Parts: sequence; C-alpha cells; structure tokens
Amino acid sequence: MRKKTRQIFVGDVGIGANSPISIQSMTTFKTSDIENVVKQINDLEKAGCDISRSAINDMDDAKAISKIKEMTNLPFVADIQFDYKLALAAVENGCDCLRYNPGNIGSSDKVKKIVEACKDKNIPIRIGVNSGSISKEIIDKFHGVNADSLVASAMEEIKILEDMDFYDIKISVKSSDVNTMIDAYRKLSALCDYPLHLGVTEAGPLYQALVKSSIGIGSLLKDGVGDTIRVSITGDPIEEVKAAKAILKALNLRSDGLDIVSCPTCSRTSVDLEKIVEEVEKKTEDLKINAKVAIMGCPVNGPGESKEADYGISAANGMGFLFKDGKTIKKVKEEEIVDTLVDVLKESNLNEN
Ligand code: SF4
Repeated sequence: MRKKTRQIFVGDVGIGANSPISIQSMTTFKTSDIENVVKQINDLEKAGCDISRSAINDMDDAKAISKIKEMTNLPFVADIQFDYKLALAAVENGCDCLRYNPGNIGSSDKVKKIVEACKDKNIPIRIGVNSGSISKEIIDKFHGVNADSLVASAMEEIKILEDMDFYDIKISVKSSDVNTMIDAYRKLSALCDYPLHLGVTEAGPLYQALVKSSIGIGSLLKDGVGDTIRVSITGDPIEEVKAAKAILKALNLRSDGLDIVSCPTCSRTSVDLEKIVEEVEKKTEDLKINAKVAIMGCPVNGPGESKEADYGISAANGMGFLFKDGKTIKKVKEEEIVDTLVDVLKESNLNEN
C-alpha cells in the first residue's frame, strides 16, 4: 500500500497523498536559449511528462523563466546550486518550485530570504541530496557515502527549513548505486512524511539506465514509497519520460498509453514481427489510450493472449488476424497489419472520449 505523505503542489500538479505518481524530466539546453527550451518542454509534455526542471546558472537563465512560462504549460522547477540571488530571481520570474539545498547556500540570512520568497508565492522546495553532495562531517560520521549518510544529509537540510517554519518540501536521496538508493529512500520514508522524488542518479546510457531505474524506482513504488519520479538517462529527455511511463504502467500506476504484449519471436514466426511492433509503438505513442494489445508472431498463442488483452494480432504466412475479446474481427495482409490495428485503436479511442 502506498505510504500517505503530505501533499504539495508544483504549479497545478499535486505531489504526495493521493495524487497520481508524476513524471519529471529536465531540459538540456542552456535555459536562456528560450526557443530551444520551450520546444523541449512542449515535446516533454507531449510525451507524457508532468513537471519540467531546468538548471539556472546565471541571471540570464533566471530572467528567461517568465518568457518560457508564457509559452509552455508544464510546471517549471528551477534548479539552483549555490547562488541565493539566482534562487530569488527564479522565484521572482515565476518558477513553480525551487530545487536547492539550503546547506549549499551559506548564511542563514540568505536561506531565510529564499524561504520568505517561497512562502510568499506558495512555492515548494525540493531538497535534492545525492552521493556527491554530502558534507565531509556526515561522511566521516557514517563512514562513507551510504544510505545512512544520504538520509542524515537530507534530515539536516530538512531541519534548516523546518526551523524557519517551512514545510512545503519534497525530497530526493539519489545515488548511482541502486542498492544504496533503495535503502536510503526506505529509511527516509520511515523518518518523515514529506513527498519523495525518486530517481537513480547518473544512471548511465539507455540500457543501463532503464535497468537501474526500473529496479530502483520500481522496487520502491512496489513498496508504496515515492510520489514523483525521474528516470535519468544520458541522452534525449524524451526517452526519460517514455521509460518513466513504462515503469508506472508496468506497476498499473498509470493508465494512459498502450500496453503492448508482444512475443519474443521464434522459428515459427513467419512475418517481420519486430518491424510490426516497432511501427505500432511509434504510430500510437501520442494516443492517450488505455488499452492492452497482444501482437504475436504465430497463431499458437494469438487467440489466447488476445483474450487477456483488449486487442490482439496473430500473424501467419503473410497474413494477420485481428482479434477483439478472443474473436477474429479482421483478416488482413502482412503489410496492412499496422495501419489496420492503429485505425481500430484510434477508433476505439474516439469512442471512449
Ligand atoms: Fe514463437 Fe508463436 Fe510464441 Fe511468437 S507466439 S514466440 S512465434 S510460438
């Protein structure tokens, strides 16, 4: 069962309590490159992203936020490293959340100014601890970078904000090591009821990132821990959103998007099933449809799988049989399988809406 955390709002997206698990990603252009950042955020939204984050490295980046917000819909998280003036400028320019660690900012006067500005505009703060941001004192005390030092660091940051009566907080304790990350989030979840932002940091290139994130984020969500997620991939952030959607869909935590059940192919396969599945995936990625489709390379398992799915294709000898609820509704040539299936799905989507 999902742990009931406090609810916060990043723009109009609820995080924690009963809010759906949201998907986050990060832009890759310099934030003052407004044209490219706007395009990227709008592409992320189209792919299914709920919240977008951008690094704010100088005043030009901070000032760009208000213009970016005019041309995008996703809530905007400003990622600040050290400079409190950039945090204040980001708030002033309309960001919907700050990602910054008060311990990095320096004097408590500066932190207080940021906290007051956030209170004033109802903007939450994400405390983002990761393996590289733990202080030497905490590393020494807990004998290295591990789950305990990550959690201690997060608790220290939380206390700074709580001492200023600020509770509009979400927290991440990311590590590039999956076991450490899982342990840290479990421990942190037992110690506080703030919403948690899950992620394996620096997860690597596509395949490694997918595996690490599926295990790390997936295990925690399965335990009921976590309120918002980011899959970190070295590459296009759109892939991060696709991966995050697939993780949530696999756990039945998100309903939009097609769930494709396809066979691994074998010597019985008599059509180019890989190409068919690839094309179906590509042509349906923008469909906001909640359906399960079985695409099978021979008639052996086709009808059976399609009984479990909303639609099914079983292909044989250059032909495709389209099933609905286990019954054949169409028989088409191999080259027509994709478009026929996509048309049927679009039609069912129209009927549902
Ligand atoms: Fe082989 Fe048919 Fe199974 Fe696909 S569904 S793996 S073609 S036996």
